[in-house]
Amino acid sequence: MSRNLDIKVRQCYTRAVAQGALLFTESSISKHREHGEVFEVRFVPALAKKPSNRPKGSANPFLPYDERLHVAKLGSTHHLLLNKYCVVPHHLLITTAEFRQQGEPLTEADFSAVLNTINNLTSRNIVFYNSGDNSGASQPHKHLQVLPMPEYMDVPPSIGIWLQYDSPSGQVHTSDQLPFAHYGIVLDQDQQQDPVRLAVAYKMVYDKLTAAYGTKISYNMIMTKTVMMLFPRQHSSWNGIAINSLGFAGLVLTKTKEEQELLDRYGILHILTCVGYPRTNKK
Ligand code: AMP
Repeated sequence: MSRNLDIKVRQCYTRAVAQGALLFTESSISKHREHGEVFEVRFVPALAKKPSNRPKGSANPFLPYDERLHVAKLGSTHHLLLNKYCVVPHHLLITTAEFRQQGEPLTEADFSAVLNTINNLTSRNIVFYNSGDNSGASQPHKHLQVLPMPEYMDVPPSIGIWLQYDSPSGQVHTSDQLPFAHYGIVLDQDQQQDPVRLAVAYKMVYDKLTAAYGTKISYNMIMTKTVMMLFPRQHSSWNGIAINSLGFAGLVLTKTKEEQELLDRYGILHILTCVGYPRTNKK
């Protein structure tokens, strides 16, 4: 992997837009403060007007992938692609080279591809994985996603709340400051560099999640360089507002004024609690 991954991503993005291979949709951002943290709401009315600008059918968009969206090979097991339909420039997908089911647990090879990507980008990023029918995933071929973190954000707000009080390193931890069920771990230096150790950290968190909710549970994963969190899911949306892992990171997308109003009235943490599970003392 070249150390110039930033340049490769930007060049591939500019070319793909010019070729019409990548469709960027304009949006406007508002910030919502809850529990002392800033959440981002992205209003994308074009998605409400044109809900079907994406081809329907069962063709797998990642096998074969569109060459014009291909940024790099990540070893022999994964590809780094640009997201064809993006609202944030340089939204990346890490797809498995061979077909694997979205929803399978993440592996050392997946984490190797993740580290190979984020450790070669200068931007700060949110890595996420939507697993299972209620998680907000739309494609059945295994893929993680990498999104540049908003400039003003130090950490995603849900992680910020989770870190506010006690965040013991090396253990899976649930904070009583978040209203929805979650399992998080602070990643040490070794886990930030070594996919084998990172996969072990994920397994520790995943085992807690599945011990409480069973192995069939849909869930979202979000990860920064230093923190990984998993959130069990029972619904993919709330009153039309679709929520995936980014919602649990604190980045919510709305398509209509009505959705904006609902969000203002009920608050993001409440909505996340409805699509996730309320936090209990179940560990
Ligand atoms: P998810 O909806 O979380 O499963 O993520 C799948 C992503 O793949 C979506 O964000 C889509 O925008 C994106 N996508 C759909 N078709 C393609 C394609 N042909 N090439 C690249 N990305 C795509």
